[in-house]
Amino acid sequence: MSDHIFQSVTFKVEGMSCTNCALGIQRTLEKEGFHQVMADFTTGEVSFEMGDSNQLPLAEKRIESLGYKVLETGNGNGYGRRKGMAPIEKKFWFTAIFTVPLILSMFIPIDILHNDLFQLALTIPVFITGFFHFGRSAWFSLRSGVTNMDVLIFLGSTAAFVYSLIGTVYGLGHDYMFYETSASIISIVLLGNMLEYRSVRKTTSAIDDLVRLQKNTAKRLITEIHEGGETVEEVDAALVETGERVLVNSGDKVPVDGEIYWGTGSLDESLISGESLPVDKKKGDKVVGGTILLSGSLRVKATATGKDTVLSQIITMVREAQKDKPSLQNLADKISRIFVPTVVVLAILTLLYWSLGTDLPFRDSLMRGIAVLVIACPCALGLAIPTAVVVGLGRSAKSGILIKGGSAIDKFSAIDTVVFDKTGTLTSGKFRIREMRCFGKSEESVRSLLYSMEKHSNHPIAQAITTSFKGAGLIRFEQVEEHKGVGVKATDKQGNVFVAGSYHVAAHVTGDDSHNVYLLMNDELIAWVDLEDEVKEGAAELIAFLQKKGLRCVLLSGDRQERCDALASQLGIGEVYAEQLPGQKLEVIEKLSENARVAMVGDGINDAPALAKAYVGVSMSDATQVAVKSADVVLLKGDLSLLAKAFGATRTTLRTVKENLFWAFFYNVSAIPLAMVGLLTPIVAAFAMAVSDVIVVLNSLRLKTRKLR
Ligand code: ADP
Ligand code: MG
Repeated sequence: MSDHIFQSVTFKVEGMSCTNCALGIQRTLEKEGFHQVMADFTTGEVSFEMGDSNQLPLAEKRIESLGYKVLETGNGNGYGRRKGMAPIEKKFWFTAIFTVPLILSMFIPIDILHNDLFQLALTIPVFITGFFHFGRSAWFSLRSGVTNMDVLIFLGSTAAFVYSLIGTVYGLGHDYMFYETSASIISIVLLGNMLEYRSVRKTTSAIDDLVRLQKNTAKRLITEIHEGGETVEEVDAALVETGERVLVNSGDKVPVDGEIYWGTGSLDESLISGESLPVDKKKGDKVVGGTILLSGSLRVKATATGKDTVLSQIITMVREAQKDKPSLQNLADKISRIFVPTVVVLAILTLLYWSLGTDLPFRDSLMRGIAVLVIACPCALGLAIPTAVVVGLGRSAKSGILIKGGSAIDKFSAIDTVVFDKTGTLTSGKFRIREMRCFGKSEESVRSLLYSMEKHSNHPIAQAITTSFKGAGLIRFEQVEEHKGVGVKATDKQGNVFVAGSYHVAAHVTGDDSHNVYLLMNDELIAWVDLEDEVKEGAAELIAFLQKKGLRCVLLSGDRQERCDALASQLGIGEVYAEQLPGQKLEVIEKLSENARVAMVGDGINDAPALAKAYVGVSMSDATQVAVKSADVVLLKGDLSLLAKAFGATRTTLRTVKENLFWAFFYNVSAIPLAMVGLLTPIVAAFAMAVSDVIVVLNSLRLKTRKLR
């Protein structure tokens, strides 16, 4: 097994209309020996892994033999939108033409409309369409072992048709004519499927928008060696390679992730991070592919292209997230699986009871049985969760909140305690050097020591020091290592040991613990630095918001006690753990987790273990840091209001899921008895069922604009 290289494949498949269709495909491919099979009817995607690329046609054939159409095969990042009418739309309009006169016959007393041969002629095209549409899918679903709702529709429409046909063949009169029932069931359910298809497509529009951002051209810069000049070549952005240089003019979409090596400009990052204000960038800054240059001109050296770009990672992450469903899905799947067989049994019992146990005419008993079949379609049940999750995650992604899956929605909406890291999370992390004092060394040599050491760290303090001391002489150390949450240690060629870090590294040489960074040479204090950063905008509001929601807020930091206390009282945080080393931070999270559901909010750079340990890890930095593995929720900009939004988004998504489930379930369960006692005709049942599906999808779509609470 292990020497096999598995290749992962994604198909875009058309025609999956409910969870059971997806489950059917999944089962079938698993039987054929494909691994990691995932079918998602909301996105129309089937992905799996295979050991041999010769198996690709087999997978395609298997899926098509189940009655679905494979539209595209690929790595899943470049689907176009289909043009023209989808097959489901064509089928509906075709059957509608024949069904309308049949329905009219119920209201209008024109003789020809009531002629049984005329009705038969109108019904045949509808029935044949339905027979193949529902019959095929029903048949294959039976074979795959997960019976889908099409079985019910097929049985219902076929029973009405066959019964009417017998009446026509034997000339049994109008009591036997239920052609309009058969045709209406087919047309109305097709109508429902069509509306559902259209709205389910809308649920995935957020991801389509991101995918569209990827389609881009690049102005690649080519240096001409002989003349020393430069030419610009317009190419597909996908063809640019790492290390190559591109020109971005104002109005252009940045084609790749990269670093600016020339020029300045103002970028619109709203499509990636949700940041609505333009962001100014200059030489040395990072840019993210898919953002738009509003003004200025940039030359960018590509640092990531294709699958490695931030945008591509976001898309993959959202796609993966959609496959992961909240825990309620297990319940819905269980119900869904037993639903269809149960309904068939109930329908047969209804028919038997009324026809044998009472003196109700057989045709009325049959209609009650058919009504039971048609009303009980579990499709709304199948749509309830995935559509809400897809819309919820999509909406969040658009505002720069990446929620890694349905289970993260569950967890995030269940938290009761929020632990904040301080630096870079509640404070801007943009430090300013307030004061520096040197002992026995020139300021210049201290500067170059600090500069050369902090170059190796990406802690916000380190970044502030390297930016302020830019131009200081660079010292080549033999060895440099960073101790997260403590500082940096370096050894030079002469064997001198330098340490720059918090009071932890200096406690044995000085009693003054009031400074931020201490610099030691061979265990002797040679300098200290005081730095300052500002509280982030909206921090106090966020804490107030969370506390109003009943959440306990905690500050957890490696910084000094006084500073933490000052910040906590400024923001209204009651609980403070200061001077915590990374390992101690973990212990605090562990201890708090004993009797609370803890969300840890940090920058994901220095506190990744704490994020992973917490019930929910939330990382907040900027769009270049998407790939924070330990976080369940990634906020793509440092804006604290996003956290409140994420909180609202997960709660509102979960609420929508529950509403949908309630509606779908309550509806099916309460309508079945009505159909059993004859209070619903099959046609009304078909209508009601189609309406219930559409309502569920519309409720999910409402999440796009719904107020997040
Ligand atoms: P916080 O919990 O506030 O985010 P950290 O745990 O990241 O803070 O860091 C705690 C302290 O350790 C900092 O206030 C600083 O004094 C020191 N420190 C951490 N990394 C560095 C570094 N690269 N250079 C100097 N000092 C550092
Ligand atoms: Mg930190």
